Amino acid sequence: METAITINNLTKNFGDVVAVDDFSLSINAGAFLTLLGPSGCGKTTLLRCIAGLEDPDGGEIYIGDKLVFSHSRGVSLPPGQRNLGLVFQNYALWPHMTVYKNMTFALEVQKLSKEEMDRRVKESLAEVQMDGYEDRYPREMSGGQQQRIALARMLAYRPQVFLMDEPLSNLDARLRMDMRAELKHLHHVAKATTVYVTHDQVEALTMSTAIAVMKEGVLQQLGSPDAIYRYPANLFVADFIGNPKVNLLEGVVKGSSVDLGAFQIDMDTSGAPKRVVIAVRPEDVLISSEPIPGSVEFTAYSVLPSGADSTIVAQLGELEITVRVMGISTINMDDKIWLVFDPQTLNLYDQESGERIVAID
Ligand code: ATP
Repeated sequence: METAITINNLTKNFGDVVAVDDFSLSINAGAFLTLLGPSGCGKTTLLRCIAGLEDPDGGEIYIGDKLVFSHSRGVSLPPGQRNLGLVFQNYALWPHMTVYKNMTFALEVQKLSKEEMDRRVKESLAEVQMDGYEDRYPREMSGGQQQRIALARMLAYRPQVFLMDEPLSNLDARLRMDMRAELKHLHHVAKATTVYVTHDQVEALTMSTAIAVMKEGVLQQLGSPDAIYRYPANLFVADFIGNPKVNLLEGVVKGSSVDLGAFQIDMDTSGAPKRVVIAVRPEDVLISSEPIPGSVEFTAYSVLPSGADSTIVAQLGELEITVRVMGISTINMDDKIWLVFDPQTLNLYDQESGERIVAID
């Protein structure tokens, strides 16, 4: 597979803060790669390094097979020579220019004909549902509309690689959902390599072909949304991804079961140290209103219906487990309930290192 962007050992410091720490990543051509992590983990800095807006302190960056940055070889191409399209959170439309002018400013530099520019403006505005806004000034539009114009401007530019930093953050929930679908469809049709920054795990899971999870400037896991969700590489990724949050249960390995204090779960413990953490997603716990084989008795501490699904907080002594069921649950608060854990859906972690234990066959 052709590689669109290669990042080798990239480091960027701001004084004592290591914003990006010895970071390496290859992004396949046509991928929708999302940089995901909590605020301050270095996502924006990494994207700005790719764009040429920051000068890294070490490492190298290739776009296609073109070296655009190398600390050791003293190479640093300016943003304009990297053939990238940028949309940042603060979308920086020129206030004194109309939408049309904002969108064609960069195209004039490319020396496109008037007909071609008109066509691209019209098509791109339609793609972000802003047809007919060519003559408006930024001050005559809402923040969300301005953000969509910034997206359209990037689409019209047709770069080799799209770089987007939280481009949907200013939109209301409904429009954000529409624009996610729109952007995903655009990517499906055009297959343009996209690097997308967000701290919103739902956005990352819904949009991406690959996700790179970051923490404090360090790559934690690179994988498909499915792999990241089902097999988080460490406790940080497990805890960061998923809503409601994953249940993390500390226990001690005893033969082929894990003792959680209140009860034991039989599972594959090969390769596990003594002290472990079991991670179980709320939707993977089976809940019953009467005892069934292999079940453990809990009490329904809280029941939180939200229409399409319900969250139930189950309690057993000190232990609380969040369970998610489809639809409106018939369980009431304080009811006795019985939970079943399917070993196939559980992940096991080393309590000390936080790393996932991969079972030894
Ligand atoms: P957010 O989601 O809040 O935008 P982020 O993951 O994009 O966060 P960055 O903006 O890349 O994080 O910041 C990474 C770290 O570098 C943070 O500790 C931040 O305070 C610091 N940092 C970023 N830019 C600068 C700067 N220009 N000067 C000093 N420190 C900076």
